[in-house]
This record gives sequence, structure tokens and C-alpha cells, in this order.
Amino acid sequence: MRKFVFATNNRHKLDEVSDILGEKIDLLSLKAIHCDVDIPETGSTLEENALIKARYIYEHYQVDCFADDTGLEVEALGGAPGVYSARYAGGNGHDSEANMQKLLRELNGVENRKAQFRTVFALIINGKEHLFEGIVKGTISKERRGQSGFGYDPIFVPEGYTQSFAELGNDIKNKISHRAVATAKLCAFLKR
Ligand code: IMP
Repeated sequence: MRKFVFATNNRHKLDEVSDILGEKIDLLSLKAIHCDVDIPETGSTLEENALIKARYIYEHYQVDCFADDTGLEVEALGGAPGVYSARYAGGNGHDSEANMQKLLRELNGVENRKAQFRTVFALIINGKEHLFEGIVKGTISKERRGQSGFGYDPIFVPEGYTQSFAELGNDIKNKISHRAVATAKLCAFLKR
């Protein structure tokens, strides 16, 4: 069984990605390798941040690994919050309720609700770096709907659906999401 560290402690992301990668890959979280450093995401793009995290793990633990960074890019806001999605409402970030409320306020009265989630994975395998991108297009709803998922899921309606990611549930989300697309590319690469 091939072993990889996924540089995250986000249980939702670990479950999503290990579901897609399947049983042949042993996926370890940061916690599993006893890494409790909050690796600073100081890059100005998703690509830079994913590479910063993957390089940190590779340099300190010498294991094959990958890291992701994800942003919600809203057309009417010129691509914001993008790389700043976690900290959109300020503070230390990761306050999903505050982030969603801010986004709904910014889009109050705005007709163009088009948005996309974009994920970038940075993989380091045998010391070589590879990037994979996944995008899911959709729209921002006018109010939050649904309970499953995390982050901006209650206000993101993927193209071709009328329900939010949080209403659609993980089975559907994991087939069509930005992370699913990026993970499928990573998976295809690993199987080559
Ligand atoms: P990060 O890649 O974990 O730093 O994510 C950046 C921000 O995007 C965080 O606020 C997450 O909650 C949000 N985010 C990342 N992936 C998803 C997703 O699949 N659904 C909803 N929000 C997400």
C-alpha cells in the first residue's frame, strides 16, 4: 500500500479525498505524523500556498505528500475572496458563518451570482513537484441552505443543480466538487 501525507487536519477534506483515492492508498493526516504546526499560508495564489505546505512536510518529514489550497472565486467581486476565502471575515479565519454572512452582504442586490470553487493540489513525490487543478462552477444563493459539508457549502449551488452543496450531501458533492476533479487528476497521475 502506497503511503502519502495529506497536509491537512480537516476531517471533511481527508474523508473526501480518501474516498476518491480508494483503498490502495494509505492517507495520513498531519496529526497522524505528529505535526502540529499551523503552516503559514503566506502565498498570494492558491498554487503558492499549496506548494508552501507540501514543501514544509517534504523538508521536515521526507515523505511523499500533497497539500491543497482552495478558494471561492466570485465573478462580481473580481475573483474575491479567492486565496483569502478562509479569512474573508477577518480574525484568525475559518469562521464559516461570518465568512458566508460577509459574502451574502457583499452580493446584496447583485444580479450576477456566478462563482467557482478552485482547488490546487501540490504533490511532491520522490522530490519532484506536480500541480493539479480542479474547478466547479456555480452560483451563490441568496440565503444559506442545508446542513452537510463545511465552509461555504450552504450558499454554493453547483451548475446543473438547484440545491446547495450542503443540501446535496457528500455523496453528490464528492463526485462533482473542485476537490473531486483535482483528486481525480492526482489519482490518474499516481496510477500511471
Ligand atoms: P482551505 O483550502 O482549507 O484553506 O479553504 C479555504 C476556505 O475555503 C475555507 O474557508 C474553507 O471553509 C473554504 N472551502 C474549502 N473547500 C470548501 C468546500 O469544499 N466547500 C465549502 N467551502 C470550502
